[in-house]
Amino acid sequence: MDPVEALQQAIHYLDREFAPSQKVRAFQRAIDVVDSTGPEEIAARAEADTLTELDGIGKSTAEVISDALSGNDDGYLARLEERSRVPIGEGAPVLAAIRGDCHAHTTWSDGGAPLRAMAETAIAIGHDWIVITDHSARLTIAHGLSEERLARQLEEVEALNAELAPFRVLTGMEVDIFEDGSLDLADEMLARLDLVVGSVHSKMRLPREDMTRRMVTAIASPHVDVLGHCTNRMLVGRGRPPSDFDPEIVFAACARFDTAVEINCRPERQDPPEQLLDLALEWECKVAINTDAHATGQLEWQAFGADKAVRCGVPVDDIVNTWTADELLEWTAAHAR
Ligand SMILES: [Zn+2]
Ligand SMILES: [Zn+2]
Repeated sequence: MDPVEALQQAIHYLDREFAPSQKVRAFQRAIDVVDSTGPEEIAARAEADTLTELDGIGKSTAEVISDALSGNDDGYLARLEERSRVPIGEGAPVLAAIRGDCHAHTTWSDGGAPLRAMAETAIAIGHDWIVITDHSARLTIAHGLSEERLARQLEEVEALNAELAPFRVLTGMEVDIFEDGSLDLADEMLARLDLVVGSVHSKMRLPREDMTRRMVTAIASPHVDVLGHCTNRMLVGRGRPPSDFDPEIVFAACARFDTAVEINCRPERQDPPEQLLDLALEWECKVAINTDAHATGQLEWQAFGADKAVRCGVPVDDIVNTWTADELLEWTAAHAR
């Protein structure tokens, strides 16, 4: 195997197991070193066991490189593959019915993998489509997209679609919901996108009434198709408590305006908690099981959301990810009318 390909696979598995970002960066750095060193010197050093003398190659990355060159399929990469497998649980039937993912980031904003790699991984895991939803402009720490950059991304998507058909890359954005419920993108751009996820990323501690009004205003927008990670809770690190809002009103609005409630599959979010999802289901809200992937390996996290959907009894037909791309587009287009 090509050493760079092996290192890329390692990155996929590391992201799949949610490894610390410095570990992923070490592998990315190793790819750069292999590229700049050249195949002959890499092969000679692998033979002589001197890869780690290169600045940027450590013990693990050296092992992956030499295993790739010698054809050893029983080393670090194989162990990592096995260790990082996402367990398929009670969600198996839902997972089997899923055709796509409506929330994924790329290097256009704060993702770690280029758009093409995300699309190719979606194909590899059996999807028919993926919606690319990078961040909107105001989220500057996440390198959010200006209108002009979004327009350029749409061109890249169009070119990629011509190449990857019948697989479909759908256009979208994870648009910030401002404090007053308005959206961080002009209407005419919103109208051009296939699917829009609306999410709160700032002022998460608003008083209950204000947060409820803010969310309902965004849900009522004809452009918002999916309400992203509704509580904003964070379960790892210092953690973050859920935002305070009236869930009856918010989910009633989702039902009324046909906005899907997202099951966000990220391990540190697991949003919404099951009690809240139960309530959304009482309102017969549609559901989107989304990975919110920021790397190729994270596209496999849908298994977590599928487990939750089955535990809470989400009807499969109400899960928008089980629809064909055309059905999905018909649904989002109906919102804009
Ligand atoms: Zn978000
Ligand atoms: Zn996101």
